[in-house]
Amino acid sequence: MDRQKKGMLRGAGRMVLSLLCLLAICSQMFAKPPAKEKHSKKPQAAPTSQPVKNLILLIGDGMGPQQIGLLTTYAHQARQSEYVGRETAIEQAMRAGTMGLVRTAPQGVLVTDSAAAATHLATGVDAAPETVGLDRHGDPVETILEKARDAGKAVGLVTDTRLTHGTPAAFLAHRPHRSEENEIAVEMLGADADVLLGAGLRYWIPQQATEVGSAAADEIKNMTGGAFDFASRRRDNRNLLLEARLKGYQLAFTDAQMERVHSGKLLGIFGNEALSDALVQRAAGKDFHEPTLFEMTEKALELLSQDKAGFFLMVEAGQIDWACHNNDAGALLQEMLRFDKALAAILQWMESRNDTLLVVTADHETGSFGFSYSGSALPSPKKLPGSAFEDVRHAPDFNFGRPEILDRLYNQKKSYYSVFQKFDALPKEEQTPAKLAELVAANLPFPIREQQAAEILKRGANPLYVKDHRYLGSKTSPQVGDFSDFYVFGDNLRMNLLARAVAADQNIIWGTGTHTSTPVVVVAIGPESAARPFGRMMHATEVGQLMQRALFGR
Ligand code: MG
Ligand code: ZN
Repeated sequence: MDRQKKGMLRGAGRMVLSLLCLLAICSQMFAKPPAKEKHSKKPQAAPTSQPVKNLILLIGDGMGPQQIGLLTTYAHQARQSEYVGRETAIEQAMRAGTMGLVRTAPQGVLVTDSAAAATHLATGVDAAPETVGLDRHGDPVETILEKARDAGKAVGLVTDTRLTHGTPAAFLAHRPHRSEENEIAVEMLGADADVLLGAGLRYWIPQQATEVGSAAADEIKNMTGGAFDFASRRRDNRNLLLEARLKGYQLAFTDAQMERVHSGKLLGIFGNEALSDALVQRAAGKDFHEPTLFEMTEKALELLSQDKAGFFLMVEAGQIDWACHNNDAGALLQEMLRFDKALAAILQWMESRNDTLLVVTADHETGSFGFSYSGSALPSPKKLPGSAFEDVRHAPDFNFGRPEILDRLYNQKKSYYSVFQKFDALPKEEQTPAKLAELVAANLPFPIREQQAAEILKRGANPLYVKDHRYLGSKTSPQVGDFSDFYVFGDNLRMNLLARAVAADQNIIWGTGTHTSTPVVVVAIGPESAARPFGRMMHATEVGQLMQRALFGR
């Protein structure tokens, strides 16, 4: 075979690799007779019931198969891929472990939110939408974290969003609504976890701390060392940081403070709302005082693994979901890279151990994201070297997307969120379509015309609806045009419209501003008897049950 042909084949191989990743998911799934699921509602018992010592659960919030596809397509096809010569951690995990697919919706509805989804994983029982740590009737259910704690194991939660946000909350709080974050913070403190790393200081500090110059504000500033700006959302004057310290927690507000802790209980809160998004963290580089998800994960493993009885750890890459709600593909790619680095840290820690089960999964898919072929900007006909093309040119009818899109997405400097934050910080008279187009050109890899900017500003103005999950009027955003009932977060509307303006250039489509019911992937790695039962199609509650069986042997 001549070199050119070999190169062509290699190229073709790369082209289909990303597809193969998704196909592999299906083939693994369907390799097992589907009859099994039909006849046995309960998870299959592990052949040997020797429980694992440690269980690590890594959740990519909003990480459907297509989001994994973006990461792996980038890894294999981007010209300047970070992964040249090595595999992504998720592919490594899939190769080493057992893979299945997970249905995510609670009974009685078709789509889930993150709180119910996390409750499914945390408890193994069905939950009603937007509830935390309760069964579908509203009764509290003990979670895997609480059971592990009561069994004498060390337990911890790590997230790059707020500790009190839906996903982590479901592992140690029991509330009728996910928005009760003040109560969730109190329950979280009472739960006596060993390691809590994330953000969301606003639910842990007294209401009076919002008043600049007040004694409460000074006290919080003293405690946090001014690591970041804060404002309370509490409706009382409890200082949960102080209470945590009295309960024996060491407190950390910067990466350096976190790194200094090498044993004992640790509460690390690294932002008033969330940790910075992956693009801000990448741009900040070494001069940053926030830990990365990777660093928090390593620290949690260092501390929890000192417990002789073993541990349970949940790690959440929570901003995949946020990038997808915003329909921001470049930000999504960076969040997937952040997820993959955390996974790499876990895999490295697990190397040469046989006492730990790692379960990697998602709570649901967000955004109905995907690359798609279009009828715009068709590629020009090309000469191909094969014999079938001696007399004709290769001229596909459609634009199937060029791999350089992946490099451009990677080079996005700021998230859509940051761009609009910058825009909104301008004096009112400067908030013009020309200025928006200029900001987009300076920070985003796919420019828009001034007329498109005008359209985004016009249609995205005054969303009728929601702030921080509180509905102020209409629950949908009619300005988005088609499928407007699915754009329920008005704050995101301009970003959703921006995504539409660059869709053809990116070969990317987004089907919604919310979640979809797409089954998500689960990968289990560890002792074979604990990992093997995950290799089928199941409901998220069964993932929760299988994890408990692996950790407790029942
Ligand atoms: Mg979440
Ligand atoms: Zn979401």
